[in-house]
Amino acid sequence: MHDRLMQPGPYAYFEGEVRPTEDARVSIMTHSFNYGTALFEGIRGYYVPEEDNIFIFRLPEHIDRFVRNFGILNMAIPQSQKEIEDICVDIVRRSEFREGVYLRPLAYKSEMSLGPKVHDVASDWCCYAIKLGDYVDIDSGLDVVVSSFRRVSDNAIPSRAKTVGSYVNSSLASSEAKLAGFDEAIFLREDGSVAEGSAMNIFIVANGALITPPENADILVGITRNTVIELAREELGLEIVERPIARSELYICDECFFTGTGAQVAPVRSVDRRQLGDGTPGPISKQLQDLYFDVVQGKVAKYRHWCAPVYT
Ligand code: PMP
Repeated sequence: MHDRLMQPGPYAYFEGEVRPTEDARVSIMTHSFNYGTALFEGIRGYYVPEEDNIFIFRLPEHIDRFVRNFGILNMAIPQSQKEIEDICVDIVRRSEFREGVYLRPLAYKSEMSLGPKVHDVASDWCCYAIKLGDYVDIDSGLDVVVSSFRRVSDNAIPSRAKTVGSYVNSSLASSEAKLAGFDEAIFLREDGSVAEGSAMNIFIVANGALITPPENADILVGITRNTVIELAREELGLEIVERPIARSELYICDECFFTGTGAQVAPVRSVDRRQLGDGTPGPISKQLQDLYFDVVQGKVAKYRHWCAPVYT
């Protein structure tokens, strides 16, 4: 499990250059600090000892999502997608990590100006890297609870953009669940259907099919979600159904698991104190988890192109 405080690498990208992380600081008057007008990505790099290398998982897909979302907050960032990708790799390389890492590119309204708006406010982006191992317990299964907080709707704060402000919603749900003794929360939408976890997508297994809420269900369209869908379809021959999920389906499904860059593939063993199956990770969840860990470490030739090596 992760340490409470971040363990940053020595280098970060800030205000146009790579510099010591301790010199990367923003003013208390920064627009995004006051209004939550920022958006970010979370990307993992896996250290593979046999190759003495770190592989950054699906970096272009993450940076593509990052860049595409700039428009939602009216951000103009001069660097190209490729330049941003290269800077991300450079930070990890210069920091000489030899362990699992997590990259956090963050685009933010950098001006010191008053008033909540997204137009006519200057933007910049920065990136830091930290050490990161497993973020949640991925072995024994999680005990989760349906949150009393509803998922913020796309018409309130577009959570698909990974906007900083929308993580108040995630934080409220996560703390509510953890303070009540659970491992994680499940968000329902305003219409009562299932959306996702606080920072992870959700899948259930029913009648041999994998079911997950559709892209327009107020979710962040996760890169791990898309990866698991592809692996399940191509490698396990499973049927994938993207459709709304009712709360009570969570109680009667055969299996349930979360996916996310941080959570990876995390099986759920109970929902609202109802045990799923025999209370241990189900066979499809386990198979997908094992396959996912092989893929992210570059061990499956067919998917090796998803793994960007840091040291060449
Ligand atoms: N939903 C939310 C709200 C998240 O914060 C995350 C983590 N980025 C996810 C889903 C999973 O997305 P991904 O697989 O791209 O990390």
